[in-house]
Amino acid sequence: MAQRFLVRFWGVRGSYPTPGPHTLRHGGNTSCVEVQAGTHTLIFDAGSGIIRLGDELLRGMNGTAHIALFFTHAHADHLVGFPFFSPLFDARTNIHLFGPQLAGQNIEQIVTPMMSPPYFPVDMRKLPSRRTFHTVTDDLCVMWHPDSGEPLLDGTRNEKRESEEEVCVMAKFTHSHPLNGAVIYSVEYAGRRVVYATDVEWHNGCEPEFLAFIEGADLLIHDAQYTVDDYRQGKHGFGHSTVEMAVEAAQAAHVKELILFHHEPTYNDSQLDAMEKTARERFACTRSAYEGMEIDLFKNIK
Ligand SMILES: [Zn+2]
Ligand SMILES: [Zn+2]
Repeated sequence: MAQRFLVRFWGVRGSYPTPGPHTLRHGGNTSCVEVQAGTHTLIFDAGSGIIRLGDELLRGMNGTAHIALFFTHAHADHLVGFPFFSPLFDARTNIHLFGPQLAGQNIEQIVTPMMSPPYFPVDMRKLPSRRTFHTVTDDLCVMWHPDSGEPLLDGTRNEKRESEEEVCVMAKFTHSHPLNGAVIYSVEYAGRRVVYATDVEWHNGCEPEFLAFIEGADLLIHDAQYTVDDYRQGKHGFGHSTVEMAVEAAQAAHVKELILFHHEPTYNDSQLDAMEKTARERFACTRSAYEGMEIDLFKNIK
C-alpha cells in the first residue's frame, strides 16, 4: 500500500469567497482541505474550494472511489461548494458524509434541503452516487483498515489500534463558535497527526480540552481570521481567532508546525503576509495557508 500522508489546501478563506486581484496568492475560495492518508481520501469542509477538488478526484478516478467528507459545522462558507461537488453525480463514488447535529438537525437533514428544489435544480436524493451519512459526536473515533473504504465508527479513541497503517479520525466539539458550535478534527496515520481546527475563538485562553486534544500534533491548521486590532475593534465574539490565539494554541500544545487558516475575506495578500510574519516572531514554524499549498507529513515535518 502506498504510504503517503498529504494535506492539500483547496480553499483557505473564511466567511465568503473573495476572488480578485488582491487575493491571487492566497486564493479566494472558502474552506476545503483534502487529506490523502494511505489509500484513503478525506475531505474537510465543502466550501467553494471543494469544487475544483471534486473535478480533480473524478479525473483521477479508476474504478470505485471511496471518499469521506467531514463537516465542521453548517455555516455557508463550509457548505457552499457542496452542490457542485462532481463526485456526487457519479455512480462510481461511495461517499461517507460526517457532521455534527446542529440546532436539532443531523447532517443529512442539514445538507439535503440546500441540494433540493427550490434552492437547487437537482434533488440530491436522486443522484447516482452512493451516500451514507454519519452523525459526529464528541470524542467519536472513525477508523479505516488499510484495505477497506468502509469506515468503522467505534466511538472510542482508546481502543488499541491493530496497525499503524490504519487511518483514524477523531472529533472534538467546541462551543466557542456561535451559535451552535463546531467540530475540530484530528487525523492520525502512520504515527503522524494533523489537526483541523477552524471556526474557533479562544477569548479567555484556549479551552483545556482543546489543548489536550491537539497536544503534540505534527501539523495544526488553525483559525487565524483577525489581527489583534480588528478583533478588539468589533470582532470579539464572532467565533474566530486572532493570529495570537493560534500561536498561543500551537505553543501551549507543543505542535510542530502551525498553519494560519480561514483568512478574513477583506484582507489582501500583503496583509496576510504581515500576519504570517507577526506569527513567526513568536512561533517560527508558522505558515499562512494558500490555495494549492501541499504539505507532505512524511517530508516537511521533522
Ligand atoms: Zn467559517
Ligand atoms: Zn462558522
